[in-house]
Amino acid sequence: MKHLLDLRTSDFKEWLTRHGQPCFRAGQVGHWVCNAPGVPFEQMSDIPKVLRNLLAKDFFIWSMETVAHRTSADGTEKLLLKTSDGEHIECVLLRDDKGNRTACISTQVGCAMGCVFCASGLDGLIRNLTAGEIFEELLQLRRLLGPDERLSHIVVMGMGEPLANLERLLQALHWATRRDGLKISARRVTISTVGVPAGIRRLADRGAPYHLAVSLHAPNDELRSRIVPTNEKVGLRAILEAAEYYFEKTGRRVTYEYVLLADVNDRSHHAAALAELLRGRNALVNLIPFNPIQGLPYRTPHRGDVRRFAAILDGAGVQVTIRHRKGDSIDAACGQLRRLRGPTADRPVAQETA
Ligand code: SAH
Repeated sequence: MKHLLDLRTSDFKEWLTRHGQPCFRAGQVGHWVCNAPGVPFEQMSDIPKVLRNLLAKDFFIWSMETVAHRTSADGTEKLLLKTSDGEHIECVLLRDDKGNRTACISTQVGCAMGCVFCASGLDGLIRNLTAGEIFEELLQLRRLLGPDERLSHIVVMGMGEPLANLERLLQALHWATRRDGLKISARRVTISTVGVPAGIRRLADRGAPYHLAVSLHAPNDELRSRIVPTNEKVGLRAILEAAEYYFEKTGRRVTYEYVLLADVNDRSHHAAALAELLRGRNALVNLIPFNPIQGLPYRTPHRGDVRRFAAILDGAGVQVTIRHRKGDSIDAACGQLRRLRGPTADRPVAQETA
């Protein structure tokens, strides 16, 4: 038995041919999987009975179990999912008042990057998620939507480093963006990376217009290497060059994420140095006030400091936005809920409204 969504479309078509079935059935099955999540093969009514039986014999679609489901007052919902080998991953549904419904998904169990302020990497990397598991996160989140809602955006900002599991992520996104899949435009998909130049170039060469976000967090190598350990071997310059290449190839402006940690990287001179670094580049800076993680020594900056930081960038002609925190009350920052799981997390789904 295999996860159906681990198969590339071409492999699925080959499987169909081998079983004497026309290739167009791939689209039909895909349509069922994406538009009626949870419906078993047996109930796919426009698929011939013989094919339904063959599918049920060789494949499964659902491999993960929801072990916690939290809802916050701002409409954010978070799922803690248990994989078939007993690992835990998180994904989040974000709602805004413009009707956007954004899925935030993980690509790995844990993370190897070790950014000092992030909960996901505190226990290191356990394994990559499969393409099927990544896609299943989207389906699980889609099931939370009401009848008038549809998934409009995807942000790959959950646990893990997406560019360290790029092929599987792209396979999952392929289903997400297809017309017979979830129909989400590639332009509404954001892939956030710690900054892996070779991965950024590889993604650029694919030509799909995904939106790229690079986690910068510091304006110079000395500070960045303290906050983002992988910077030691990579360096800002190589990252900015790769981001420039991404822009040239895809025409998409790159976003630079900057988590503001009080007194560490949020001073005026950091903002001025960041403006200097990015001036003249086609860039948008997204400031993210630190979301506190228990046990870590960092603090969230005061609002005034965040605004001052943004004003310095703005004054220097660098485009800047401030990310407002959502889902604080449900530990929505990546990796937090997974770390909190205790013996009680394995209960059947409980709706906790904060
Ligand atoms: N590995 C990818 C995706 C990870 S999470 C990356 O590094 O970009 C997505 C974003 O959330 C990153 O910018 C990450 O630095 C940020 N982040 C992680 N922990 C955070 C926290 N506690 N508070 C605020 N932002 C955080």
